[in-house]
Amino acid sequence: MEKRILGNTGIEVSRLGLGSLTMGALQKASSTETIKAVTRACFEKGINFVDGAELYNSYEVLKEMVKLNKDCVVASKSYAYDLPTAKKAFEEALRSIDRDYIDIFLMHEQESDLTIKGHHEALEYYLKMQKAGYVRSVGLSTHKVECVKATTKFSEIQVIHPLINHTGFGIFDGTLIDMENAIKSASDRGVGIYSMKIFGGGNLLHDRKKAVDYVLSKDYIHASMIGMQSIEEVDYNVALFEGGDVSNINAKLENKKVYIKDWCVRCSACVKACPQNAIELVNDKMVITEEKCLLCGYCGSACTELCIKMY
Ligand code: SF4
Ligand code: SF4
Repeated sequence: MEKRILGNTGIEVSRLGLGSLTMGALQKASSTETIKAVTRACFEKGINFVDGAELYNSYEVLKEMVKLNKDCVVASKSYAYDLPTAKKAFEEALRSIDRDYIDIFLMHEQESDLTIKGHHEALEYYLKMQKAGYVRSVGLSTHKVECVKATTKFSEIQVIHPLINHTGFGIFDGTLIDMENAIKSASDRGVGIYSMKIFGGGNLLHDRKKAVDYVLSKDYIHASMIGMQSIEEVDYNVALFEGGDVSNINAKLENKKVYIKDWCVRCSACVKACPQNAIELVNDKMVITEEKCLLCGYCGSACTELCIKMY
């Protein structure tokens, strides 16, 4: 598995990383046996990069990767915006992965310079932890072109985890070219880039090779995270990243959907949680527009009635 250095961070990562959202409690809630099997398959295929988040409830995946490779590159992120919430999130990440440092810690799902400024207390805390040796680099994740552009004003942002794929699926505040230019400009400044949603949250699975070839063709995308939940998926994606033959690998992937159950009380918490504006109230019913949905599961975590399911 080819490795790249993430911008000026000095951190060397495999071009394919294991995204843990899929196996975490928000989505599949995979068993410990499955997590162990999938992480071992990643380790054996040379994947040294794993991504999680406070929200995903998936730190078990990160911990298993670290058990297999103590130098594994671990990234996580949090919505924390002030000092107490940032400290809590950061300490929880260290405790849960059972290591005294984390490689990359990000502000989760930032939208613009305003939201970055609104999280300054959290950012300052992460930078303080970096100085103290508890984190190697700091940055943000985003679905927005505007946010990637805004990082020109914040030299503290060393890593960006942006949404990008060959069709531009899920980019709503600009075109694919706008996103490419913004990411390339950040990369040219030495910012490390690892992409998310290269399969559009499952919507681009019909041509996985095209999706992988696209990110591999962009030198400024140093690595890409893919959520994987079976050994076959690891084999399949590794083969795609290495230009190998996938014809004999049976990695059948179900196209998932989000469902809202009958007991919904129409509180609209899910509408606010959806970064894609994919949920709306229509004729007294919550409706999801599939063409916009990235299957990120954020709506499910916002629903206190537990009526959003993904399968
Ligand atoms: S958060 Fe849950 S209960 Fe509230 S509107 Fe959405 S689906 Fe319904
Ligand atoms: S509807 Fe739910 S799963 Fe789909 S993009 Fe919105 S928050 Fe994510």
